[in-house]
Amino acid sequence: MIKEKGILFVLSGPSGVGKGTVRKALFEQSTNLQYSISVTTRKPRPGEVDGVDYFFREKEEVEKMIENGKLIEWAEYVNNYYGTPRDYVEQTIEEGKDVFLEIEVQGAMQVRENFPEGVFIFLIPPSLEELKNRIINRGTETEDLVKNRLLAAKEEIEMMDAYDYVVVNDEIENAVNKVQSIVQSEHCKRERVAKEYKKALERD
Ligand code: 5GP
Repeated sequence: MIKEKGILFVLSGPSGVGKGTVRKALFEQSTNLQYSISVTTRKPRPGEVDGVDYFFREKEEVEKMIENGKLIEWAEYVNNYYGTPRDYVEQTIEEGKDVFLEIEVQGAMQVRENFPEGVFIFLIPPSLEELKNRIINRGTETEDLVKNRLLAAKEEIEMMDAYDYVVVNDEIENAVNKVQSIVQSEHCKRERVAKEYKKALERD
């Protein structure tokens, strides 16, 4: 039996592109991916649950985690901290399970530095206009926040080059299927499979 390490998948993309929606739809399907719950200083939105959607924490607590190296990446985004807890990601990969992160682009680039063998997926909107409508229609942000998010989004789109895959979020179902296909393909990659086979053969 070949014991593979898990693969780290990172879904990122501009603000409002629908990363969260794609991620939720993905996890409603049967999947072997393990979702890494982030910590944030943002207040919960209606319906969000601590320990399910995020670990909602105070600023001081998150700053301490950053200082102590407890996060594999973190970003300050629209005046709040967001970060990925290190222990969960490292342990789960060691156990041979795939980990899935859904994070903004600054954080994704930090992960890329620390986990170059990870798989980086960039989700893009069909058009910037549509992105604008989606942000406005969400209706949970003030006008200033919408402007900030749009500005961030324009800069983020230029970052596509740093990713392995690009998925257009035209229809949720399409996008989810594409992400699932990427996961499958990555497991069939020769480099990954060959490395594990060789290791197994050396053991015998
Ligand atoms: P929201 O406040 O809408 O839940 O998330 C805002 C942005 O933060 C989204 O783009 C989301 O993907 C991103 N995000 C969520 N968790 C993390 C994290 O742990 N690290 C980073 N860098 N971004 C995150």
